[in-house]
Amino acid sequence: MRPEEISSIIRQQIDKYKAQIEMADVGTVIQVGDGIARVYGLEKCMAMELLEFPAPGPGEEPTLGMALNLEEDNIGCVLLGAYTHIKEGDTVKRTGRIVSVPVGDALLGRVVNPLGRPLDGKGPIATDRFRPVERIAPGVMKRKPVHQPLQTGLKAIDSMIPIGRGQRELILGDRQTGKTAIAVDAIINQKGKDCICIYVAVGQKQSTVANVVQKLTDTGSMEYTIVVSATASDPAPLLFIAPFAGAAMGEEFMHQGKHVLIVYDDLSKQAAAYRELSLLLRRPPGREAYPGDVFNLHSRLLERACKLSDAEGAGSMTALPIIETQAGDVSAYIPTNVISITDGQIYLEADLFYAGQRPAVNVGLSVSRVGGAAQIKAMRAVAGSLRLDLAQYRELAAFAQFGSDLDKATQARLTRGQRMMELLKQNQYVPMAVEDQVMSIYAAVRGYLDDLPVDQVLTFEAEFLKYMKASRPEVGQAIAGTGLLEKDTEEKLQAAIKDFKAMFVKQQS
Ligand code: ATP
Ligand code: MG
Repeated sequence: MRPEEISSIIRQQIDKYKAQIEMADVGTVIQVGDGIARVYGLEKCMAMELLEFPAPGPGEEPTLGMALNLEEDNIGCVLLGAYTHIKEGDTVKRTGRIVSVPVGDALLGRVVNPLGRPLDGKGPIATDRFRPVERIAPGVMKRKPVHQPLQTGLKAIDSMIPIGRGQRELILGDRQTGKTAIAVDAIINQKGKDCICIYVAVGQKQSTVANVVQKLTDTGSMEYTIVVSATASDPAPLLFIAPFAGAAMGEEFMHQGKHVLIVYDDLSKQAAAYRELSLLLRRPPGREAYPGDVFNLHSRLLERACKLSDAEGAGSMTALPIIETQAGDVSAYIPTNVISITDGQIYLEADLFYAGQRPAVNVGLSVSRVGGAAQIKAMRAVAGSLRLDLAQYRELAAFAQFGSDLDKATQARLTRGQRMMELLKQNQYVPMAVEDQVMSIYAAVRGYLDDLPVDQVLTFEAEFLKYMKASRPEVGQAIAGTGLLEKDTEEKLQAAIKDFKAMFVKQQS
């Protein structure tokens, strides 16, 4: 072969090579239906990249799609808008952008969809900052152990299942057991606590989301809250990306060194939307027909919530994912997955809820694996024995149903347990300051309520806290200020309880 021939072949190869690169940015639809399109010829396409399809009509915005399946010779993508006009042979362009959402302060107080478009009719969102919805979570070296409390304002949680800033705590339970209520109370309680909240509603009824927004507005909590909503009637791709969009909005604040609380309500519905998409994309179904990577879906979402190290600005993102169980079955696929990803769970039980024990926290099955380190010392001191006492009470109560002859010690435990359970009841939308929680739990744990009738416990508590605020404000201030229950504060508290109780008992009789 002569050198000229060789060089001409090489030249031809180079020409072809260029042609291939151009090919990679424009593709052709080879199949379309059910909101899914298969596209040929986009070899360089990235996962979750936005693709441009032809517009539905002249002068309209092009329809967008999101690439999900990157296969050897074609790409499976979901269409994010009107798609009935798309047909085989249409051209598809890469945008080179991952799906992204607007981020920043302009979103506070707003209700947006998972693409960041306003849903509240309050005009456009004035921000020029965007973040991709998918992002790799900060690595080990960028993190720091969770060490600051995130108060939910709920006695049953802050005392026994404490949550720290940067923790991921799952809320799970059957339908209508008060899951959303806990999350909303936690948001309301962040008022004035320097924490931005994001409520991501996935697959819920529009009316339910509207109620939450109304409640947050009424309590003045919308000022520091963003609501991301993909309701049951939205297409599955929006439900699928909603939690990621919320996480992206939260990360913006976290990396500015701020604290964020994000609620995903709920991830069962996100998993169902993902299953729908995956089946349409013909991915092989696994257990319960979910695709094999549904564990990865939730873990890469929840890993993004963390406590950043001082070098990274010490911001944090606390996540409260919610999962709905069916008939209390925590061992179903999605619940066990998310239980193993999170740092603990709050398990709400339908039986307790119907029996009037609200919030219906099952103390035995609920844990917080890191929160103890983030609890204020005063709370740890008084509530340390609470968990154990309640555990013993539950065991005894089950027994006591059968027998009548109970010894003194057993009787005393039952008495104490009943009063504690009563004290842990709390209405919605009235989160309590941590010092108030400490004072009322102290009264119960030390037996000051044992001789009160059970139905007077909550009245006693309410009146007692009013009395403390009016007549002995220094006790609460000392606890809040130092985070400790020092000896002299404790003595003052004991004296106050005794004084108040004498008055209360006289009043009631
Ligand atoms: P779903 O499965 O429909 O999402 P959920 O588990 O989120 O339900 P919620 O909507 O929070 O449950 O609560 C169910 C009902 O119980 C609501 O009407 C709510 O007002 C009431 N409820 C929740 N918590 C309490 C509480 N602590 N005290 C009194 N009522 C409560
Ligand atoms: Mg709910």
